[in-house]
Amino acid sequence: MKKQLMTITLGALLVSGLTLPASTPVEASTSYKVKVTTNVLNVRTGPATTYQKVGSATLGQTFKYLGATGSWTKISYNGSTKYVASTYVKKYSAPFIMPTKGTLTQGYGPANGKYGYTFHNGIDLAAAKGTPVQAAATGQVIVARNYGAYGNHVMISHTINGQAYTSVYAHMDRLNVVKGQTIAKGANIGTVGNTGNSFGSHLHFEIHKNKYVYSSSTAANSVNPYTLF
Ligand SMILES: [Zn+2]
Repeated sequence: MKKQLMTITLGALLVSGLTLPASTPVEASTSYKVKVTTNVLNVRTGPATTYQKVGSATLGQTFKYLGATGSWTKISYNGSTKYVASTYVKKYSAPFIMPTKGTLTQGYGPANGKYGYTFHNGIDLAAAKGTPVQAAATGQVIVARNYGAYGNHVMISHTINGQAYTSVYAHMDRLNVVKGQTIAKGANIGTVGNTGNSFGSHLHFEIHKNKYVYSSSTAANSVNPYTLF
């Protein structure tokens, strides 16, 4: 596996002073989602059928939950706040949490090939060296080592609602976990760094369905992490 990762230039990056003792869960970061339970659901600008319909959602689609007003649920729809009837959605806790506080510098998806891959199978979160990294969900550490393009990295296997996942945390500075360890969602697994093929302090984070599979040109079995937060 040969993989090069993007160059990051940390400009006037604001970094929070968050520090946590090891193994402190960060449950406060858990967010909620809603899943559509009807074939076609109207999406409106306000919490009543008198408000304008701006789109529709279909069975099984998921959205970030933003709150409720009466019998209406507020969702994030194409990046803005919209409303759907609560009767037709099911609220659930998002499977994963954000693994660190940082600025998104490269999203999931097609890439220009400059760094040896034409599909970026994860997200890059720029943060100062030493910023804590949390396990994005409860699971077992299956990799914790310094190797290859990922530098100091951790992989955790999870089973959530019957689905197996593998999460990947790359370019870290310090690793606070070892292979075989069971780790709780939100537990500190190490710190953000600049190891491996990395040109600026950031966390490269991936989520795969089932076991880790890498492709430099396709998603393979990776998933956009933002669909799971
Ligand atoms: Zn990356």
